[in-house]
Amino acid sequence: MSENKSNIDLWHQRLGHLIFQQLRVLVDQELACGIKLPESAKLSFCEGCVEGKMQRKPFKSLTYHQSRRKLGLVHSDVCGPLQVESVGGSRYFVMFVDDFTRFISIYFIKSKAEVFEKFKLFEVMMSSECDANIAKLRTDNGGEYMSKDFQSYLTSKGIEHQLTVPHSPQQNGVAERLNRTIVESARSMLSHSKLPNKLWAEAVATAVYIRNRVTNSANEDHFTPFEKWYGHKPDVSHLRVFGCAAYCHIPSAERRKLDKKARRMCFVGYSKNPRGYRLMDSSTEKVITRRDVSFNEFDFRFSSRNSDASWSSSEMSFDYEEESAEVEPVPETESLSAPRRSQRTVRPPDYYGFPAAVNVEGIDSSTTRTHCAYTVHEIVEPENFDEASKSLQAEEWKHATDLEYHSLIENHTWDLVKLPEGKSVIGCKWVYKVKYDGEGKIDRFKSRLVAKGYSQRYGIDFVETFAPVVRHSSVQTLLAYAVQNI
Ligand SMILES: [Zn+2]
Repeated sequence: MSENKSNIDLWHQRLGHLIFQQLRVLVDQELACGIKLPESAKLSFCEGCVEGKMQRKPFKSLTYHQSRRKLGLVHSDVCGPLQVESVGGSRYFVMFVDDFTRFISIYFIKSKAEVFEKFKLFEVMMSSECDANIAKLRTDNGGEYMSKDFQSYLTSKGIEHQLTVPHSPQQNGVAERLNRTIVESARSMLSHSKLPNKLWAEAVATAVYIRNRVTNSANEDHFTPFEKWYGHKPDVSHLRVFGCAAYCHIPSAERRKLDKKARRMCFVGYSKNPRGYRLMDSSTEKVITRRDVSFNEFDFRFSSRNSDASWSSSEMSFDYEEESAEVEPVPETESLSAPRRSQRTVRPPDYYGFPAAVNVEGIDSSTTRTHCAYTVHEIVEPENFDEASKSLQAEEWKHATDLEYHSLIENHTWDLVKLPEGKSVIGCKWVYKVKYDGEGKIDRFKSRLVAKGYSQRYGIDFVETFAPVVRHSSVQTLLAYAVQNI
C-alpha cells in the first residue's frame, strides 16, 4: 500500500476533516471500501480543524431513528442567510434528511421562497430512487414551509407536516446536528485549502457528499447513510482533498504543438451526473467535470490571473445568522443528483481559446453564470462543425458525425446532379445534440446533417408551403377502419 493510502492525516482531510473517532469506526468496522489505516495511526495537529471550529468530540447523546423505513420521516431546515454569496449567487441552503437512513440532500437557494420548489424536487428524486413516498415532513414553523401552496401540496400528497416545538432541541436534534457538522466540515475544508469563502457552496456540497459516506453518530447500528440508502458499502477510494491542485488532460485536438498536455486546476468537489471530479479554473472561476484527473493533494497554491488577495482572502467569515434559538437542520440528499434543467441557451464564454466543456448549473438558481455553486453539468453542444472539432468532446462528435455520414451514404439519401440553370443551392449544416438517458447520464452524442431551409426566399425559391400534419379526423378514420378489419 502506498504511503498516501494509509496516511491518516490525508484521510482526515479527504473526509472533510472527519474527527478521529469516526474515522477509526469507519476503518475498523469496514463501513466503507477503499480505505485502510494502520492501527497505531494518530492524527497530527490540523490547522484547518481549529480554524473551522471543528468539534473534536462526537456528540454524546444519540438521536434514535423515529422512522422504520426510507422516507417515513424527513427532517428539513433552511440555513442562512450566509454572509457571503456563493459563486452561484446563493445565500441559503435547504437540507432534507431522511430519518431512517440519515441520508442528506442539499440544495442551494437564493431566497427562502425557493424551498417549496426544492422540496418537490427532492420528493420526486428520492421517491423514485427508493420507490416509496414521504409520509411525514418535520420542520420548524418557518414561513417558507407554512405558505398556502406548500401546505395544500402536502395535504394533496397525504404528507403529514409535523412542526417542531420552538426551543426544544430534542425535536430538532437530527437536523441541527447535521447542519452544524456540515458547516464545520465545510469551514475546515475552506480554511485548510485557503480558498475564498464565496466557494462555501462547493465546500458544503462536498461535506454533504462525504457525510453520506461516513458514520453518523445517529447511526448507532453502524452503517453509513449511503449503505442504508443504497444497500451497499460506499467506496471512498476516489475521495481527494478539497481545494488541492488537480491536473486534467487536454486532448491533442485542443492544444497547439507546444501547449501543455495538462491543465492545472483546483479540485472543488464531486459530481454525480456526469460522474467525476469538479475542477475549477482559478482564473475564470468556471467549473468543469472530469473523470481522469491527477491530483497533488499537498499543493494548494492557486495559480491564477487574479491577485493573491482575491484568493487567499479570509476576510469574510463563513458564518450564518441563526434565525431562532435553535437552528433546525435539514436533510440533504446527494445534491449532486439534482434534476437537470436545460441550459442550452446559455453559452459560456470561451475558455483558454476553446469553448468551455461544461455548463454548470447551480442547484440553487437559474443563474446564467457557468461556474455556479454546484451540481449539474451539461456538455455544451457545439453550434457548428468548427466548434465541435475544437471542443473537449471532439472525438465523440467526430464519431457521431461519421456514423451519420455513413448512414446517409448507405441509405442512398441523395444523388449528385447538375444544378439546373437559374436555381440556387441550399446549404447544409451539422446539428449536434447530447442525448441523456432517464437518469440524466449521457447516453450518446448525436450529429445530424440538415438542410438550411430557412435560406430559401419566398417567391424566389418557393411559392407555397406545406406542413406534414395529420388531421385528427384522419387518424380516427384510419383507426376505425383498422378496428373493423382486424
Ligand atoms: Zn482537520
